[in-house]
Amino acid sequence: MKMLSCPVDQMKDHYSTVVVGSGYGGAIAAARIARTGRDVCVLERGKELHPGEYPNTALSAAREIQVHTPKADHGSAVGLFDFHVGPDVTVLSGCGLGGTSLINASVALEPSDASFSDDRWPAQLRHHPEVLRPFMHAAKEMLGSNPYPRAWPVLPKLRALEQAAAGLGVAVVRPDLNVTFTDGPNAVGVRQNACTLCGDCCSGCNYGAKNTVLMNYLPDAYAHGAHIFTEVAVQSVRRCQDKWRVALDVLGGERERSPSSQARFVTADVVVLAAGTLGSTQILLRSRDLGLPVSDRLGHGFSGNGDVLAFAYDTDRSVHGVGLGKRVTRQDTVVGPAITGLIDLRGPDTSTENALIIEDGAIPGALAPVIPLMLSAASDGVPEAAARRLRELAGIPFGSYRGPAGRTLTYLIMSTDDGGGRIALENDRIQVIWPEVGEQPAFARDNRILATATKALHGTETPDPLWAWTNGQSLITVHPLGGCVMADDAANGVVDHKGQVFDPVGGGVHDGLYVCDGSVVPCALDANPSLTISAIAERTAAILIEDRQWAAGQAAGAPQPEPEPAPLLAPPTVRLQFTERLTGFVSMSVRDGYTEGYDRGRSDDARVDLLITIEYDDISAALDDPTREARISGTVLAPGLSPHRLTVKEGSFTLFDPDPSGVETWRMRYRITLESQEGKRYLFEGHKVLRENRIRHAWSETTTLYTKIGELDGSESGTGILYLKPADLPKLVRSIKVDGVPRQKQGEYRRAFLELFADEMVHIYGGVLDEAGAFPSAPKTAPTVREPADPDGTWWCDSRKQWHADDRLGDDAFLRLTRYRAGV
Ligand SMILES: Cc1cc2nc3c(=O)[nH]c(=O)nc-3n(C[C@H](O)[C@H](O)[C@H](O)COP(=O)(O)OP(=O)(O)OC[C@H]3O[C@@H](n4cnc5c(N)ncnc54)[C@H](O)[C@@H]3O)c2cc1C
Ligand code: SF4
Repeated sequence: MKMLSCPVDQMKDHYSTVVVGSGYGGAIAAARIARTGRDVCVLERGKELHPGEYPNTALSAAREIQVHTPKADHGSAVGLFDFHVGPDVTVLSGCGLGGTSLINASVALEPSDASFSDDRWPAQLRHHPEVLRPFMHAAKEMLGSNPYPRAWPVLPKLRALEQAAAGLGVAVVRPDLNVTFTDGPNAVGVRQNACTLCGDCCSGCNYGAKNTVLMNYLPDAYAHGAHIFTEVAVQSVRRCQDKWRVALDVLGGERERSPSSQARFVTADVVVLAAGTLGSTQILLRSRDLGLPVSDRLGHGFSGNGDVLAFAYDTDRSVHGVGLGKRVTRQDTVVGPAITGLIDLRGPDTSTENALIIEDGAIPGALAPVIPLMLSAASDGVPEAAARRLRELAGIPFGSYRGPAGRTLTYLIMSTDDGGGRIALENDRIQVIWPEVGEQPAFARDNRILATATKALHGTETPDPLWAWTNGQSLITVHPLGGCVMADDAANGVVDHKGQVFDPVGGGVHDGLYVCDGSVVPCALDANPSLTISAIAERTAAILIEDRQWAAGQAAGAPQPEPEPAPLLAPPTVRLQFTERLTGFVSMSVRDGYTEGYDRGRSDDARVDLLITIEYDDISAALDDPTREARISGTVLAPGLSPHRLTVKEGSFTLFDPDPSGVETWRMRYRITLESQEGKRYLFEGHKVLRENRIRHAWSETTTLYTKIGELDGSESGTGILYLKPADLPKLVRSIKVDGVPRQKQGEYRRAFLELFADEMVHIYGGVLDEAGAFPSAPKTAPTVREPADPDGTWWCDSRKQWHADDRLGDDAFLRLTRYRAGV
């Protein structure tokens, strides 16, 4: 499938609608609004990963884990598995284009009618389960929901669940799953493969069989013109005259380590926040701190959807409850989709407090090796009997189909809780505060029911490791809900039934600011929540379109033809990007003379910091022709122009451009238009000069950027020099990233690009790179630096680590380098 996201520098300044997040809520809103012909921009914090790129080994899974605690962040900010760990509640969500649909178990289940009798629903939905039904139906059509086929292989874990259900006196039903069981095009024309029964749904389906929103709603949004951007994290929204201003950080590569240095913004008439329960609440909490009036209920009403994770350990039958990871499915190893069966204890007469469902679960093969460690850790400090079981579990390598692990069934329970959690923002970090969450009566009841079910399997009921570890005090949930709950008014919630954010100061709602994701759900649902979230998003989008008269034909008064879907299977181009940081000094009072500008800038402390990402749209074409231009995005700190970082609005880069004005000379060119937060634009022009056979200058020439910054019309400008510091070179090499081909092939393009660079260098510098002293290295002990007698002379370091004045090297850039290396 074609890549859906585009480079950040292609983002326009303004869109009709900006959608934040690309899970169920975001993807649905984006697709439905894009279909009306409005220009839509989707901003997603995670990466775009396609089938074949999801982790299937413990090492690759570990690289995709990000953990946030109240004190620190660990792992990549764009890692697929996003854990928020707190003393009371731990939340797991997905981070990537497609949101948590990428790592969920894909059950599409309707909540019971009784769950809509809760007083916390707004009047339009309270006691009206029928309102969301048509939207659930529409979502299921797009998501390709269907149950595990009866004619398909018998699954041991489904059989085990049936045995457990028999112990409870009920039968197992097969819920709808968003999984493809027949090869072919889906509802939007994307070709998908049939499920291989590998059981790895919760680490990302590598076979293109799981119907994540990356397979349906997002390609639909793309086909209808939506601009999709990944690795951008939205910080806040605020009203600026008649528009919404969305502040965002560009993440990815080296940049994610200093997100604030990539801050920029985009404006929109309508903003739809769909960053998930924690994400949307965090954005609104930050926005409120910056002055946006939002209800006091913001952050309140957090529910874990009554989630309980538990195991029936060492049952009397084979279960096959661990995914296959890298292994190929054989007849005797089939696992099946992560969830396939359901013990439904909701019943028409069951009150919400007693409603409960139990599902079978499969642990992804890539995460299986981590589980023994978790179980082992969990066995500390729990009652001896439970600790023994946990230690036994830990001693068994998960992923084995033999022994007790192969006979262990994972239970996933959804029931109810009182929604008493609160999402709080402290020091820009969110955490869920919910003291005594473990005391919720539903959990004790759930455990009693599980004990009966487990008895029927002749196994031992074992709690989830976190629960055991904290003596039933701390909860883990994969179904976070609430924080921006919908309600009748601002005294009870954050958004109205249409998803519009209440304005508690002006009264009514903020025009054009919506939330549509799990955060608006006001109470636990007695079901897996994604279908309800999808239905709410379908309804929010439909009402938004209706209210704004955006439906095709409504605004213009005449029917508009439906846009032609773009071809989804066009041959992909391979993109390559790298991030470069150059720092130095530029004086706005020196118009000519780079060295003079640098010196003056340095004495005035006019430090300039350029942090840019250079991206080739089609690296194959650039490998053939190194004079092809690449795009530049990023920011520049230039206090002479603005106290805040300036954003690159557009920019081009040429790697090796023959310089007609110099014999055997090439230039690396940077031409950038910058915009300040105040909206003023400037021109940044930089070049590095590479001259043939000046081997001693190879390092200095490739790392020295002669710089000119000024007004667009040239009325005012300054000059100076920026350098790539030696310490930033490894970071540059590490930041080289390839997109658009499966991961296995990415290394080839990375190598080819580095080889191109090396080849051109050999060509320019005459193949004498091994000449003694070609690349002077810094002395181990600081040399005595003498100022050169001649201001154009320089100091260089020979192989004996001595510094010399050498007028053959009369190159001010090299002077800077040697001064830098000598620490002066
Ligand atoms: C292991 C697991 C199994 C599950 N199984 C099921 C199941 O079988 N059935 C079911 O119904 N539900 C299941 N769920 C839950 C379900 O997937 C979620 O409830 C649902 O995906 C939530 O949808 P959403 O639109 O609210 O948010 P999400 O899908 O979480 O999407 C939010 C998106 O916003 C992005 N984002 C966050 N902050 C920002 C920001 N500041 N800027 C830009 N982007 C941002 C995130 O990266 C993410 O992509 C499961 C969840 C997990 C973790
Ligand atoms: S079982 Fe495997 S192939 Fe089937 S949907 Fe899940 S991950 Fe994909």
